[in-house]
Amino acid sequence: MWIPWKKTEMQYKTVNKNVQLVRRLLTAIIVLLVLFFSTDFSKKKIPKKKQIILISIDTLRGDHLSSYGYSRDTSPRLSQLVEDSVYYINAYANSSWTMPSHMSLLTGTLPSRHGVNSFWGTLPHERYPKLNSSLKNIAEILKARHIDTIKFALLPDELGFGKGFVKNYQYDPFFMDNGFNNVLQELENYKKKDFFLFIHTWMVHAPYSNCYFLEKEKISEEKKNYINNFRKLSPVKENLAEDFQRFLQENHLFNPDDCVTLYDSGIHYVDRYIGKIIDKTRQLGIYEELMLIVVSDHGEHFDEHYPNNFYSYHGKDFFEEFIKVPLIIKYPFKFNSGKVNHLVSLVDVFPTILDFYEFEIPGFVQGDSLLKPYPRRDRKYIISEAISEGSIEKKMIRIGDLKYIITMMAPSKSERVNWNLITRRRLFDLKNDPLEQRDLYPDLKFRRICIEFEKKLTRIIKNSAKSNVQRQKTTISKETIKQLKTLGYY
Ligand SMILES: [Zn+2]
Repeated sequence: MWIPWKKTEMQYKTVNKNVQLVRRLLTAIIVLLVLFFSTDFSKKKIPKKKQIILISIDTLRGDHLSSYGYSRDTSPRLSQLVEDSVYYINAYANSSWTMPSHMSLLTGTLPSRHGVNSFWGTLPHERYPKLNSSLKNIAEILKARHIDTIKFALLPDELGFGKGFVKNYQYDPFFMDNGFNNVLQELENYKKKDFFLFIHTWMVHAPYSNCYFLEKEKISEEKKNYINNFRKLSPVKENLAEDFQRFLQENHLFNPDDCVTLYDSGIHYVDRYIGKIIDKTRQLGIYEELMLIVVSDHGEHFDEHYPNNFYSYHGKDFFEEFIKVPLIIKYPFKFNSGKVNHLVSLVDVFPTILDFYEFEIPGFVQGDSLLKPYPRRDRKYIISEAISEGSIEKKMIRIGDLKYIITMMAPSKSERVNWNLITRRRLFDLKNDPLEQRDLYPDLKFRRICIEFEKKLTRIIKNSAKSNVQRQKTTISKETIKQLKTLGYY
């Protein structure tokens, strides 16, 4: 029987014909073996204190970071952090928008298991599916281990994001300064204790109100000040992102190139704050023992696949620009470091944290600890799931270099996927077509692969959803809805 995920091996056989490539492959294997054997997993130095900072930079594309080789120096401080860290260059989000993706990060489960996967605005506010009550998020697990848990995030507690946090700061979603002094203060407060600090920032998300990289001649100083202070001056109000879009249109900045420039400027802005956190931990003498994780929940689309969509356009699909994210993990005492090519995803973060501290990983977790020795940590597949635009549900599986995406119509307001209503199937070969311009599905040569991928995807999702048969509903408060509307959600 032909097994699709053996394709990688088949490709290697082809590669064997090319002596030069074989040499490269052997070199890579030697490097990996040296890395593996130089890391003594059995004698890992466990820090006396368990201090963990998890930073999620919403909407951050991995390929826009300097450490990815991006043309602009968007993230000098993250580049420094990368030198002390393991840097996963093939990390994927398990969804293409904020809520399901963050819940995957915090629970180690796929959207079909945690259940927080309904598109905003499609359901009445009292019917939003919340976190499956049989699961626990990372804060609950760590709190039970007597680790103090602190959250700086605007993610709705009603959906289960606030569970397990001893301190829960709901700070201004846009202006990082407002909550930032509290972050530094809490680091000071907890420097001698065990803590888990989760920070989520929307500063890279639209409106792209930073203009660090915008050329001088583009607009006047006065208007630059307006952009830089937009979030500070604008109160939390509905459709803030749309207001800013209008400003960009009026000033001839509403085009892909300028939006990318402003987006990159937001990355530079956040990078400075990451630097402040790192400096503070060094000043407090806790940097070495600290586990510091930087990640994003999804990327952003700038006209690559959907023409004329380059402003706050994510959640709609699974092309690389939507779901490829940075993942940087600085382990205590630089336990491990270097660039890693394996496929990993957000669900792997939760078990990795627990594994490092030798805590038991709950059975519901669907990710793998990234500390598992090679090749076990070489994940065989990546799954991403999202409901976008009301009743359209998309699911993706990547195996080796192939990515298979199905689109389904959810029959009644996103309540449940109907596998019989698949309306579109697509297959992309990332090795030969990295920009995903050529859908291979219509080519009958690939039909067998598609059938096998679909079978596997179906089996994984159905299995994943088993523990979530009874979807629990919640009511979203008016205040939360108002805050989320400022971001263009709901
Ligand atoms: Zn997001």
